[in-house]
Amino acid sequence: MVKLEYELRDGNHIPALGLGTWALRGSRCTYIVKRAIELGYKHIDTADAYGNHEEIGTVIKDFDRSTIFLTSKVRPRSLRYRDVIKDCNRSLRELGTSYLDLYLIHWPNESIPIQETLKAFNELVDEGKIRSMGVSNFAVHHLNNALQVEKQPITNNQVKFHPYDYDQELLDFCQKQNIVFTAYSPLGRARILHNQTIQEMAKKYNRTSAQICLRWCLQKGAVVIPKTSSEERLKENMDIFDWKITSEDMKTIDSPN
Ligand code: NAP
Repeated sequence: MVKLEYELRDGNHIPALGLGTWALRGSRCTYIVKRAIELGYKHIDTADAYGNHEEIGTVIKDFDRSTIFLTSKVRPRSLRYRDVIKDCNRSLRELGTSYLDLYLIHWPNESIPIQETLKAFNELVDEGKIRSMGVSNFAVHHLNNALQVEKQPITNNQVKFHPYDYDQELLDFCQKQNIVFTAYSPLGRARILHNQTIQEMAKKYNRTSAQICLRWCLQKGAVVIPKTSSEERLKENMDIFDWKITSEDMKTIDSPN
């Protein structure tokens, strides 16, 4: 069985399925985020760099905030202590919310000491502005550096992960450290959906290629955040919980043709 949500190292919970919102802007963004929440998505993934905080804010104000897990990310150029605090406060204003469920360092920036960035993140947790903190695009050596100086726990690493592009060693490291792993671009930006192995599996399981990729990520133990601008695909991408891929077929998908 795959999990519907994961417990983070700080005791909070993250839903295993979220809506990715990169490249969603304007009225399409508000429409899709609203429909997603109405359909049962409980987790929305955004970032300062996506330029859609205000659109998402106009949608979430009409729902019970406590039912939505909201993630945003601070840009790598803003990892100085003061910039993190300033950008987080601006993001909260844009999103029209008093807190983020999860705030991530979007990309590592080795020219700024991780201690300085984490000091700001720790304060944001202490002030209740972020419930959980995490990172994105961190390799094992970045994580090792961060774990050595963490006070509040680093709970999540969001990285590219799909059958054509994944780092099993990084996944194993995160799972050993109890850092929840989020798969971004889990559909390979739709470019892997015509792959022969994926299509054969889709036929075998009477599912779509997208569902095979998402289910493969879930069975690897990852949170998935597929993006779509289509209502039909929102529904399709949710239908990944009550069936499973055999361990033999998981191995076949591990190295698609
Ligand atoms: P993705 O989710 O792998 O793929 C999105 C593409 O797949 C879109 O072109 C979409 O087209 C299409 N698609 C969605 N569902 C489909 C379905 N059921 N059948 C066929 N095509 C489908 O790519 P992504 O947007 O790069 O990644 C997902 C999210 O991860 C992002 O939106 C963002 O929130 C996050 N992300 C994070 C980082 C980071 O650095 N942390 C980097 C990249 C992405 P339509 O819109 O036309 O449906």
